[in-house]
Amino acid sequence: MSADDIPDISVVVPVYNEVESLPHLIEAIATTLIETNLNYEIICVDDGSKDGSAELLKSLVQTHKNLKAVLLRRNYGQTPAMSAGFNYARGKVIITMDGDLQNDPADIPRLLAKLEEGYDLVSGWREKRQDAALTRLLPSKIANWLIGRVTGVELHDYGCSLKAYRSELVADMNLYGELHRFLPALAFIEGARITELPVGHHARRYGSSKYGLGRTFRVVMDLLTVYFMKKFLTRPMHVFGLFGIIAMALGTLLGLYLTILKVGFGQSIGDRPLLILAVVLLVTGVQLFSFGLLAELLMRTYHESQGRPIYRVREVVGGNVNNSKQREG
Ligand code: UDP
Ligand code: MG
Repeated sequence: MSADDIPDISVVVPVYNEVESLPHLIEAIATTLIETNLNYEIICVDDGSKDGSAELLKSLVQTHKNLKAVLLRRNYGQTPAMSAGFNYARGKVIITMDGDLQNDPADIPRLLAKLEEGYDLVSGWREKRQDAALTRLLPSKIANWLIGRVTGVELHDYGCSLKAYRSELVADMNLYGELHRFLPALAFIEGARITELPVGHHARRYGSSKYGLGRTFRVVMDLLTVYFMKKFLTRPMHVFGLFGIIAMALGTLLGLYLTILKVGFGQSIGDRPLLILAVVLLVTGVQLFSFGLLAELLMRTYHESQGRPIYRVREVVGGNVNNSKQREG
C-alpha cells in the first residue's frame, strides 16, 4: 500500500494505560485483517497514558507499517480520543474498538460483511458480557433501555465500543461529553441505516477499567442533549414559541378577567392567587418566546457557520450529478 492510497479500513483504538494489552491487540487486529486481503490502517490514540503506552506505541510504529499512533497531550477521555482517531482515519470503513482486548478483533470480518448488506453503521452487541453484574451490567441494562426509548434506536448494547461505520457518516458528526456511545442515535438523526450484531466479549486480562458508577450520571445528561438535538435541532421555535404563546394567551385572558372584575364590578383583586398566576404566565410566556427566537438564531449559526445542511443526502443519481449549489460554495 503506497502512502497516499486510501485504505479500505481504519481501525480506531482509544488507549489509556493499556501498555500490557497493546502488543497483543495490534497483533490480533493485524492477523485478522491480513486474512481479509483488504488495505487497512490501525490508528491508536494515546489519551495521555501514564504507564508508558505512548512510548510503546512509538516503538511499535517502527515495526508495523500499518500502525499510526496519535498521541494526545493529556488525558481527555474516551470520546475525545475517538474523535481524534476519526480525524486521522482515512479508510472507507471505520472500525472502533477498545484497547483492552475486551473486544475481539476476530469479529471484524463479520461486522464488515454486515455493513456490505447495505448498512451505514453496525453496532456490536456484547451478548455474553464479562463485567461486574451489579455495578456495570445493571446500570447498563437500564441505560440501554432508556436510550432506546428516548432516541428511537433500540439497540441492546449502546456501550459496546466495537462498531463499524461508513466513513461519510463519521465525517458528519461532532462529539462532545460522553457522546461516543450515542453515535448510533446521532447517526440515526442523520438518517443512517443501523443494525446490531452479537460479538464476543472477554474479561479484562490486563490493567483496570477506567470507569465506575459515575459514568451513569454523565450518560443520562448526554441522553438529554441527544433527545433535544433529535427533537428540536432545526425548529426550536416550534416548541418554545408554542409554549410561550400558550402561556401568554392564558395570562392575558386571566388578566382581562381580573380587569373586568376590578373595573366593571369594583371588586378588590389585590389578594387573589389568580393575579399571581396571570403575572407568572405572562412573564414566562414572553421568556419562552424570546428564548425560542434566540434558539432559532443559534441554530442558524450552528448550521450555517459549519456549512451543515439541515438534511443529509444518501445518493444522487442521474443527470449532472454534481449540480448542487452546496458543493460550489
Ligand atoms: N479510555 C481512554 N481514555 C479514558 C478512559 C478510557 O482512551 O480516559 C479507553 C481505554 O483505554 C479503553 C476504552 O477507552 O480502550 C474503554 O475503557 P474501559 O475498558 O476502561 O471501559 P469499560 O470497558 O470498562 O467500559
Ligand atoms: Mg474495557
